[in-house]
Amino acid sequence: MKKQMPNKPLLQVKGLKKHYPISSGWFSRNKQHVRAVDGLDFSVMPGETLGFVGESGCGKSTMGQLVAQLLEPTAGEVIFDGLNLSQMNASDVRQVRRDLQLVFQDPYSSLNPRMSVFDIVAEPLQVHGLAKGAELKREVLRLLDAVGLGEHHAGRFPHEFSGGQRQRIGIARALALKPRLIICDEPVSALDVSIQGQILNLLKDLQEQFQLTYIFIAHGLPSVKHISDRIAVMYLGKIVELAEQEELFSRPAHPYTEALLEAVPIPDPEMRRQRKLLSGELPNPANPPSGCAFHPRCPYAAELCRKAAPKLTEHRQGHWTACHFPLLGESLDVQLDKEASAGEVESR
Ligand code: SF4
Repeated sequence: MKKQMPNKPLLQVKGLKKHYPISSGWFSRNKQHVRAVDGLDFSVMPGETLGFVGESGCGKSTMGQLVAQLLEPTAGEVIFDGLNLSQMNASDVRQVRRDLQLVFQDPYSSLNPRMSVFDIVAEPLQVHGLAKGAELKREVLRLLDAVGLGEHHAGRFPHEFSGGQRQRIGIARALALKPRLIICDEPVSALDVSIQGQILNLLKDLQEQFQLTYIFIAHGLPSVKHISDRIAVMYLGKIVELAEQEELFSRPAHPYTEALLEAVPIPDPEMRRQRKLLSGELPNPANPPSGCAFHPRCPYAAELCRKAAPKLTEHRQGHWTACHFPLLGESLDVQLDKEASAGEVESR
């Protein structure tokens, strides 16, 4: 069932960029830039889950760190609950950061191995002076209970837990400051398939219980489908498609999304043989291809694609695609004919 969304976004991201300078040689004056994130625009409504998907290196984790204010952007704005974080001083941003928490992919490396579970979950509350003594103990046990852990787990250390349990500890810690937005950076990628579903269900339950808003980052479409209301597909630092979850899965309009859907594993060997799989590697973000960055791998690429970068455009209501020839149910030949006759009309 579709959620009823309020009409004022909790988060707005405008023109967000993160470029890293790299030198092409000891004596070279030409500075190249790796465009990790290259001009993102999106918003997230309160209570919504916006999924981000794309291959490793497409910039989705960098985007999460920019939104969480762990990285400084090269350009662009992050507006949270009406406050423009890009224009605030560091101490004000620190206050707002309590509302923006991250859950990491690898809970083992994000949890201090020398701290007990109690201390790991209690630390943010102590740092912000929010609880001590009996109240602190009550609060930590309440958080552990919320993520399905008990009092008997509190005195143990991270290495004594399975991957799924460690992720539960990471989620309890992220919840400690009562955040409003949680950025889940591939929280299930490192887990067994059987455990992934449990963590996704837990995140959904917690969303309802604590009125949370999520940005959910993953490289596989199946896990984003399970949890997201809308999905943004990223390629080489940009959003190439953004739509409601059902719409994206049933009517993908960008050839890259189509290829990602084709790559979802299916058990039927006959169907597997018929599928068109994505060829080639993600291009070097320091030297992206001309025009549409996807053109060297796109089965529909035409001359225009090599020359001009397509803009993210709303082709159907709420369905945005950055492609000169979005897959709208018309064959590419028909679309190319239309383009050609439009060109003829213009040149007359
Ligand atoms: Fe493919 Fe051209 Fe669309 Fe890029 S603009 S995705 S190359 S059809």
